[in-house]
Amino acid sequence: MARIVMKFGGTSVADLDRIHNVARHVKREVDAGHEVAVVVSAMSGKTNELVAWVQNMPKVAGGNAPFYDAREYDAIVASGEQVTSGLLAIALQSMGINARSWQGWQIPIRTDNAHGAARILDIEGADIIRRMGEGQVAVVAGFQGLGPDNRLATLGRGGSDTSAVAIAAAVKADRCDIYTDVDGVYTTDPRIEPKARRLKKIAFEEMLEMASLGAKVLQVRSVELAMVHKVRTFVRSSFEDPDAPGMGDLLNPPGTLICDEEEIVEQEVVTGIAYAKDEAQISLRRLADRPGVSAAIFGPLAEAHINVDMIVQNISEDGSKTDMTFTVPSGDVDKALRVLGDNKEKIGYDVIQSEAGLVKVSVIGIGMRSHAGVAASAFRALADKGINIKAITTSEIKISILIDGPYAELAVRTLHSAYGLDKS
Ligand code: ASP
Ligand code: MG
Repeated sequence: MARIVMKFGGTSVADLDRIHNVARHVKREVDAGHEVAVVVSAMSGKTNELVAWVQNMPKVAGGNAPFYDAREYDAIVASGEQVTSGLLAIALQSMGINARSWQGWQIPIRTDNAHGAARILDIEGADIIRRMGEGQVAVVAGFQGLGPDNRLATLGRGGSDTSAVAIAAAVKADRCDIYTDVDGVYTTDPRIEPKARRLKKIAFEEMLEMASLGAKVLQVRSVELAMVHKVRTFVRSSFEDPDAPGMGDLLNPPGTLICDEEEIVEQEVVTGIAYAKDEAQISLRRLADRPGVSAAIFGPLAEAHINVDMIVQNISEDGSKTDMTFTVPSGDVDKALRVLGDNKEKIGYDVIQSEAGLVKVSVIGIGMRSHAGVAASAFRALADKGINIKAITTSEIKISILIDGPYAELAVRTLHSAYGLDKS
């Protein structure tokens, strides 16, 4: 017997037939004798509709924007998950399963006060554990909790993944199964490289890099939480027949396990290739090479909430002037240029140059820690295809390369094959 938290995303509960199908997945695990808790998202499109209602409320001249009151935003957008939890509970009951819906405030899932993007602080797991022991299936509304002001708080878009992992940690589940519309995590985006392979396992740290680089299978925060609490998290499809052979296999079900690196025996050097579009590069030329320049540049950018990513500083030739290049999201270039222009005196640069429409391609793998020459193979492979590299950054488990936008797909495919990731 195992204790399993099962999470179903929006497309998995998009209509009543799919909710019925989800109930069959749950029934399979209950019938196998496992203790089960379920976390659900809103039906697909529902949260977008609710957010649009909030945003489209007519604005009175001179009044506040309707979106101003984040507490009411939360009260409205959290309703999508409430509906699904009730619907799934009755679908399960109709199959003879003892199921009950739970809203975030009923458990309670306690969050901080950051309405609209709240963080989970604490979950009281004892009651759910007791109920699971009695054979009851708790169907928990994802994406929501209870703030310190005793009001509903939501966890940011995609937050029901985080709800599921947090509940799995709180009830000490053996596994958190994230059911979605893809059947696992791939070595790269299969829409770009049809030879991408589904991974059997991926380490938390690698998944964190993949997720933050736009492999949008899971909310990044959920991966962080899984890593901290060592929640074995399994990404799998809800669209497969719930009773197909192997679906209930406890050790080897179809999908991708995100787990501690110690659990990965056959570690490849490179696990995957990720990419992030819409990057822009900004260069400050002939800066004074003195203590405090970096602070003078990046301080004001941080205050303007501009997310700076790659940073490259040249060693100056004569010890007096240097160049600094860094990247920001394309959408923030104008704002960044304005901030840097306003601070020109304080920073003390000569000219500023920028270029948008770039792409960052990254090679990810914890195996890099113990292998030399991993980066060199990427550079060679890209050079052979005539792809020019604009900037490079590396970490222990990642090499990121900035290139011109139109080369993105070629670069992803080239690196995928250079590291032997293509399926045969
Ligand atoms: N329904 C919420 C959203 O669309 C939360 C989630 O699905 O994870 O963002
Ligand atoms: Mg999601």
